[in-house]
Amino acid sequence: MLKDKVAIVTGAGSGIGRAIALAYARAGAKVVVSDTNPVSGEETVALVRQAGGSALFAAADVSVAPDCARLVERTVQAYGRLDIACNNAGIGGEQAPTADYPLDAWQRVIGVNLTGVFHCMKYEIAQMLKGGGGAIVNIASILGAVGFANAPAYTAAKHGVLGLTKTAALEYGPQRVRINAVGPAFIHTPMIAGLEQDPASLAQLVGLHPIGRLGTSEEVAEMVLWLSGPGASFVTGGYYPVDGGYLAR
Ligand code: NAP
Repeated sequence: MLKDKVAIVTGAGSGIGRAIALAYARAGAKVVVSDTNPVSGEETVALVRQAGGSALFAAADVSVAPDCARLVERTVQAYGRLDIACNNAGIGGEQAPTADYPLDAWQRVIGVNLTGVFHCMKYEIAQMLKGGGGAIVNIASILGAVGFANAPAYTAAKHGVLGLTKTAALEYGPQRVRINAVGPAFIHTPMIAGLEQDPASLAQLVGLHPIGRLGTSEEVAEMVLWLSGPGASFVTGGYYPVDGGYLAR
């Protein structure tokens, strides 16, 4: 389905990003696995290769614009083009109500989760225009659609990702760059391991999902894979929850 396509996945050393990199590779794409952490990034590359796919690691901190520019350059140097990008890198950040939220934590979360997506899109889109089109999937959250107490920076950043997604979809639809956002609910990954440790808070989290459990990274990757491929050729500017019914309440 993605044979001969070249894809970037940011934050691909862990959790949802790793599952997306593996899904892209299984579908035949050559994958540039990007992360701040070279050890976990190289582990993902090894997993892709074990599964018979092609991948390489390219370090990038998405909050740093020149890193994102270099990531796209490295991709084109190695594989000659860029067709698909999943802007997945993100952090949870501190938990505190708005009036108590530390200023530096706000800057850090917005810097990675919102400005980081902007940086990536800026350079990815420029390259995709040169290649005649492409598909971008931004990983937002259910917290791109609704509020969540004690997570003001994360919730604001994820709402911002939806705004960026819609705006760029309007701008680049005619030039055949499709841009969508995915909204996972709570997914078993290292990001929420702290919340899962306490049985009472885990039960409370599970209770927010009508389907009766948390999601898996692979379930998010299925949606990302579809949005990135030819089956979604008329799909752009959309927001796709993968949420076990969280937003149905
Ligand atoms: P994760 O397991 O913590 O993985 C995130 C990856 O991104 C890690 O490898 C991390 O590296 C990397 N990263 C962190 N800051 C970065 C930066 N500035 N530049 C590049 N890479 C960076 O988290 P996840 O749960 O898979 O989350 C992936 C995405 O899904 C995030 O955007 C998150 O907001 C979103 N999401 C997650 C959930 C959930 O419940 N898990 C729900 C909704 C949305 P280090 O480990 O070295 O920091």
